[in-house]
Order: sequence, then structure tokens, then C-alpha cells
Amino acid sequence: LSVYGAPVIGMHGNWLGIIIVFHNITELVRLEEIRKDFVANVSHELRTPVTSIKGFTETILDGAIDNQEVTIQFLEIIQKESDRLQLLIDDLLELSRIERAEFQLQMKYVKVSEVVQDAIAITENQRLEKQIDLRIEGNEAVVVEADDRRLIQIFVNLLTNAISYSKPNTCIHVTYGTTEEEVFVAIRDEGIGIAPEEKNRLFERFYRVDKARARDSGGTGLGLAIVKHLVEAHKGRIEVESEVDEGTTFTIYLPPRQSNRSGTKTV
Ligand code: ADP
Repeated sequence: LSVYGAPVIGMHGNWLGIIIVFHNITELVRLEEIRKDFVANVSHELRTPVTSIKGFTETILDGAIDNQEVTIQFLEIIQKESDRLQLLIDDLLELSRIERAEFQLQMKYVKVSEVVQDAIAITENQRLEKQIDLRIEGNEAVVVEADDRRLIQIFVNLLTNAISYSKPNTCIHVTYGTTEEEVFVAIRDEGIGIAPEEKNRLFERFYRVDKARARDSGGTGLGLAIVKHLVEAHKGRIEVESEVDEGTTFTIYLPPRQSNRSGTKTV
């Protein structure tokens, strides 16, 4: 907290009083801390694959090239790390795009069942590889005013996580419908779960419960930050319920129409 005080003197030099300004800088300090953390995190996340790519390239050039088997093995690592770098850069650019004030959604009425099906199709291979079952239950008639591409992106992110943090031969449940005022879509997995004290931090950029495990799963640590931004851009909210070793449910709630109470369109 910073406090400024100044006397207020009238036109004839008479003392009128004192103005005191209380300025709460805790929020500014907090934002600055977040920004610094973010830059440090980005640098670290970028440096790790680059170091690996450089190291393996040098080893190949220093002689490993004579052994074809070893060379192929190293090139595969280089390819994997380049893919990772690409994914990270794509997610960073995406996050910065949707955080901008001028970011706009392309709104139209969409059937929730169709959007959910598209997201399921995109993540199908990954799911089948892990032999994870899928159960879908919902009201086919549910319609929501949304940007369908962005909605698919939200569900692809949540489904990818559900698959990544599940054990093989478990099941993912997708449920959608309406409450009194909102449309909801819930994605429930039977995976590793999330401890209560971690729940609030999940949506922070680069926050991961288990860093090594999350990195092995191929994620960038930006997925849920992107999801939260997109849900909020739709004037919706996201909730998470979880039990360690039992599973996790992410539920998004969206207003069926993007209009405010007086009926004026706000998009
Ligand atoms: P990542 O790319 O690491 O998956 P996200 O932003 O998508 O990054 O998620 C952040 C972290 O939240 C993950 O690293 C993981 O620890 C946790 N998490 C997300 N979804 C789930 C889930 N369905 N079950 C368990 N943990 C999850």
C-alpha cells in the first residue's frame, strides 16, 4: 500500500483540508511477479528441447554418424524435441492471441452434440492407443451460441488431458445438457486425480502437478490456461472436481445465448 497526502488550500490561502490517496499496489506487484515467472518459465521450457537438439546433433557430427542404428535413434530424439518445441511455440502464440483485448469470437448457434463429436474424433487415435473407453450421454437438442472452432479446441484440450492422465483400460465419460440457466458439458476420467491443494493452480500457465510426468505426456503446460481464457471469453466458467486415484471431472458452463439481461447483444 502506498499513501500520498497533500494539503488543499483555498483561493485566499485558507486551509480547506487534506487529500489522502491510498493506492493499493499489491495487485501490481503480484502481476509483475506473474510476468517475471512467465518469462522465466518460457525461457526454461524453450531451452530444454533446444539443448537436447544441439547435443544430439553435435554427437552425430562428432562421429556417431558412422553407426547408422545410433544415428537413427538420435535423429528420432531430435525429431521428437523439435515437435515439442513447435507445440510450445504454437501454444504460446495462441495464448498471447486470445489474451489480447481485440480477440474476437465468431459466434453462431451450434449443436453441442456436434461440437463434442468433432472433439472426440480429433482425439480418437490417442484414446484408442491407450484402450480407453468412451461413454457419451446428452440431450441431442442442446444448442449454444458459441464460436464452434474455439469450443472444439476447449474439448480437445480437456479430452487430451483426460486421456493423458488416465490409466489404460479405463473409461472417459462425456455428459452434456442444460441446467436452469446454463448449458454444461462435463468430461470425467478415471485417472490419477488431482489433490485438493493443487486445484486452484491448474489454470496457471505452465503449472503442472507432476512436472516429469506431465512433460512425458507431451503437454506444454499451457492447455488449461488456454481453456480457461476461451471459456471466459464465452462468458462461461469452468469447474473441477477430483479425487486422487479416483478421477477428475472438468465441467464447463456456458450461457446459452451471448446476450445480457436487458436483451442487448454484447458480442
Ligand atoms: P499439460 O500440458 O501439462 O497437461 P495443462 O495446462 O493442460 O498442461 O494441465 C496442467 C496440469 O493439470 C497437468 O500438468 C496435470 O498435472 C493437471 N491435469 C490436467 N488435467 C488433468 C486430469 N484430467 N487429471 C489429472 N491431472 C490433470
